Amino acid sequence: VVDTLTREERSARMRLIRSRDTKPEMLVRRLVHAMGYRYRLRTRLCGRPDLAFRPRKKVIFVHGCFWHGHDCKLGARPPKSRVDFWARKIAANRRRDAEVSRHYGDEGWRCLVVWECQLKDTEFLGRQLGSFLDA
Ligand SMILES: [Zn+2]
Repeated sequence: VVDTLTREERSARMRLIRSRDTKPEMLVRRLVHAMGYRYRLRTRLCGRPDLAFRPRKKVIFVHGCFWHGHDCKLGARPPKSRVDFWARKIAANRRRDAEVSRHYGDEGWRCLVVWECQLKDTEFLGRQLGSFLDA
């Protein structure tokens, strides 16, 4: 099956694996931890948030821009093949993201999405995370 992947699919998968394993999530966790907040990982909460703060009723999702169709340069980069396939996939992700965020709203929880493209400026990100968690 793997051999039939297009270059686009493969690199998209690699991006996904990388982000799942390590970098973006880890960076956000390190920041949050360094700021002294306690959180839980990979909970069974709706949409499987990357970080969960039950007592505060808050969750954080770290989203890859391509996969979740972010309105930025990374998210707008069009795939070179199977355009329809990716468009459907990304549209489905966005629909699910919207449902998940509605779910938390209905339950009285707050939900923060950190985008891959926002990870470069860790100082700014740290301030955002802090004001979200303290609000
Ligand atoms: Zn982005």
